[in-house]
Amino acid sequence: MQNNDLLKRSLHAVWHPCTQMKVHETMPLIPIQRGEGVWLYDFDGKCYLDAVSSWWVNLFGHNNPRIKAAIKLQLDKLEHVMLAGFTHEPVVQLSERLSALTGLGHCFYASDGASAAEISLKMSFHYWRNLGHDKKIQFISLQNGYHGETLGALSVTDVALFKDTYAPLLRPSVQMPSPDWRLVEAGESAEAYALCCAAVLESYLAQHHGATAAFIIEPLVQGAAGMAMYDAIYLKRAREICDRYQVHLIADEIAVGFGRTGTLFACEQAAIKADFMCLSKGITGGYLPLSVVLTTDQVYQAFYDDSVARGFLHSHSYTGNALACSAALATLDIFEQDDVLHGNQVKAAYMNAEMQALTDLPIKYLRNTGMIWAFDVQTGDTNFSRQFYQAALQKGLLLRPIGNTVYFMPPYVIAEAEMDWLIEQTRELLISCVH
Ligand SMILES: *Cc1c(COP(=O)(O)O)cnc(C)c1O
Repeated sequence: MQNNDLLKRSLHAVWHPCTQMKVHETMPLIPIQRGEGVWLYDFDGKCYLDAVSSWWVNLFGHNNPRIKAAIKLQLDKLEHVMLAGFTHEPVVQLSERLSALTGLGHCFYASDGASAAEISLKMSFHYWRNLGHDKKIQFISLQNGYHGETLGALSVTDVALFKDTYAPLLRPSVQMPSPDWRLVEAGESAEAYALCCAAVLESYLAQHHGATAAFIIEPLVQGAAGMAMYDAIYLKRAREICDRYQVHLIADEIAVGFGRTGTLFACEQAAIKADFMCLSKGITGGYLPLSVVLTTDQVYQAFYDDSVARGFLHSHSYTGNALACSAALATLDIFEQDDVLHGNQVKAAYMNAEMQALTDLPIKYLRNTGMIWAFDVQTGDTNFSRQFYQAALQKGLLLRPIGNTVYFMPPYVIAEAEMDWLIEQTRELLISCVH
């Protein structure tokens, strides 16, 4: 009863994200009462395995005692203070630790990923302007790239469903070929294909570097593209090419940061440092909204001046929120204290072995990077994604396929028995959903 009432009130009062609200005439919302580990519970006690980490944010499970305790402790001291003209312990500590972990610094905070993407684009443009390079005003990104939904971030995003409607509002940007290894030709290696794509980037910048401020990219995995994975050599080459042509490299690690690809940050696998790094999603373990842009001393120094207008005057009300920073600090503590990256390697190896149980089904491009798994389902059903989503929910599984791509991006606390269950349920779903 309570359940039905909440559904009705939500549909009346809440405009849900990324949703044609009319679909809820036939597809019920799921009201969640509580969470524990990888599980979400509704009001009837039915549970759902959160195999997408609640849109890729939850790293260490719902109701995590350590993150919760850190927030409670901070709550008794200071919930928030404006960060212009003021500072506080959690934001300083977090900035110092992120700097030590990334080799970048001068942390600039916001509350969501799209804002971080916007900040990096504005900073890059403003850097070149402060240096007198007024013509460097264009951005380039990858085909099928995703950087958020606000107008600036959407301008460098290349997902038709999100972008086309708003095209008249957006600044044109240019997309480079994606090194997505699903696109390799027969006999070609993922590495060779990535190098081909990098050659296109090079010839583009050879011609257009004078007008280009930055290249923004999702390192190693293009999430919203359907977990497109590519060889790290592309990042290495992109770094060299951007250096050669004086174009900033922006690493959008919003989805892939914090261990998702197997290293703490994806850029580490190419041994490169971006000029800007955007972080969000997992940064607070999925507890509170927080994002950050880190950059180089060189960029920072170009803004440091007696002139106010040469400074970066961007701001958000909740910039550097103390509670969110305390959640992020607790998240970093867990990485350190539990040797999470090593534990994840063991889990990934187990999962990879068990995933072989799916290979006799009509799927292709079974792939894995770190704690992300994906495969493409061979079906002509244009409604596959919604039908699979709904069928999965009935089985107590939260999966949100992107087109024909089914992916797993579970919280790192997932246990072996839960992985087994996830794969077995997915196997049954594929058998019943794919004709
Ligand atoms: C989710 C995401 C964003 C946007 O973050 P929001 O918090 O949803 O605004 C940007 N870039 C990438 C790579 C993402 O996955």
